[in-house]
Amino acid sequence: MSELSDKDLKQFEQRFLARRDELRRIIHDELLATQREEFVELAGQVHDSGDESIAELLIGIDLAGRQRELEEMQDVEAALERITAGSFGECMDCGDDINRSRLDAYPTAKRCLRCQTRYETTQRGGRDATPSL
Ligand SMILES: [Zn+2]
Repeated sequence: MSELSDKDLKQFEQRFLARRDELRRIIHDELLATQREEFVELAGQVHDSGDESIAELLIGIDLAGRQRELEEMQDVEAALERITAGSFGECMDCGDDINRSRLDAYPTAKRCLRCQTRYETTQRGGRDATPSL
């Protein structure tokens, strides 16, 4: 169990929801801007998805220049799922609490700093590399 209070979790959740809406808007507009039929259709789904996760819809989508937003969207949705599941703030590798200051600076962190460092050492240059503090 993480040390975060319900109030903390609510604040993180609000932050993620706001960011998710922002990212959806960016991705939606970008999909429309491609004027490619299948992407324009996808933009409609992004727009209509309400509270549903859209990260899955977007897997494998090649939006040049928006890869960062797509990846962030997946991170934000995964973080929201962890809040729902009650595992937010715990390291996915060792199960320890993620340091609070690390979470404040980097709220979608999935690992404690120690595990993240080890992960990056083994995955250096990999697509999943997430910035450490
Ligand atoms: Zn860890």
